Amino acid sequence: MNYKVGVISGDGIGPEIVNEAKKVLDAVGAKFGHKFEYTEILMGGASIDVHGVPLTEEAIKAAKESDAVLMGSIGGDTTTSPWYKLPPDLRPEAGLLKIRKALNLFANVRPAVLYKELKGACPLKDEVIGDGFDMVIMRELTGGLYFGERKTVEENGVLKAYDSLTYDENEIRRIAIRGFDIAMKRNKKVTSVDKANVLDSSRLWRKVVEEVAKDYPEVTYEHMLVDNCAMQLVKNPRQFDVILTENMFGDILSDEASMVTGSIGMLSSASLNETKFGLYEPSHGSAPDIAGKNIANPIATILSAAMMLRFSFDLSEEADAVENAVKKVLADGYRTVDIMADGCKQVGCDKMGDLLAERI
Ligand code: NAD
Repeated sequence: MNYKVGVISGDGIGPEIVNEAKKVLDAVGAKFGHKFEYTEILMGGASIDVHGVPLTEEAIKAAKESDAVLMGSIGGDTTTSPWYKLPPDLRPEAGLLKIRKALNLFANVRPAVLYKELKGACPLKDEVIGDGFDMVIMRELTGGLYFGERKTVEENGVLKAYDSLTYDENEIRRIAIRGFDIAMKRNKKVTSVDKANVLDSSRLWRKVVEEVAKDYPEVTYEHMLVDNCAMQLVKNPRQFDVILTENMFGDILSDEASMVTGSIGMLSSASLNETKFGLYEPSHGSAPDIAGKNIANPIATILSAAMMLRFSFDLSEEADAVENAVKKVLADGYRTVDIMADGCKQVGCDKMGDLLAERI
């Protein structure tokens, strides 16, 4: 089958890591009989340099016409790049916020996987890690505290600030459905995280999640308070499969979960809407400090491409092939410099792409 992939190479290491992801996708296409057609879309600094803005209407149109978008990363060195002398709404990151809004990407999925070969990078004790862990954080991305009404007022000479945390049941239902759908493609367990002992928004969250859970009898689900979840992530990360949570809790927990893996160059992510469409990108930034040196780790982007195969194209076997290739390459002892360990063979960005493509 043919799939239209919008490609935002972006800035810094973006073009290097995206090239390797395309190499691996093409190997998947050759093995399984698919064709991936790539359309380059300018965003971030690359778009500012050409159009003077970080995202044009034509770029949004091209993204909407794609079946999914694969992205490297955008942005430059925030202290030295001339992009950061522009007003905030014309800087590279404004492009990302704009595309998320234009495509209604309300669900953010961030896997936190610790491969047994990379256990050395994990700050947790061996007995906690066991053979590694594999979870995803499903975070609501367009509601809650970050989008609620806020103001700062002065009352009797004292400054007072308000932020409001609102969710309606439809916003909760659509992210819960996404979370349970993803659990069905994984180990069929959902941990819904809230603060229902205190917050009304969390009590509504819990009620709606319980309703949605009834449609997924195969999925085991539980509720967990967010403070307990923060502890459990370091106490017993292996208990989790899908953590489903609202915007701010997800922001904090996903950073905590990625830190316990210890390897920023390995972490993929997806932002999804109600259709099959998704924007797939590594969790890391554009790493301007190592751009153009052929030393960046392309694996996070390649694993993001695997998520695209699984979630947007329903190609589970193909996604498995990519994820297994990553495991094989690590087991064979190949490492980019960021995950290098004693006794391993250090390779550059393009060689890592070659090795993965060979193992598809
Ligand atoms: P960063 O993630 O780019 O880099 C942090 C450190 O990790 C650097 O030392 C970098 O060399 C290293 N690193 C990151 N990815 C790597 C990889 N694949 N392989 C090897 N090493 C890697 O974070 P930063 O330095 O804070 O930000 C740099 C730029 O990226 C900024 O302009 C920032 O705004 C942007 N950014 C973009 C996104 C995005 O596009 N979604 C996300 C985060 C940051």
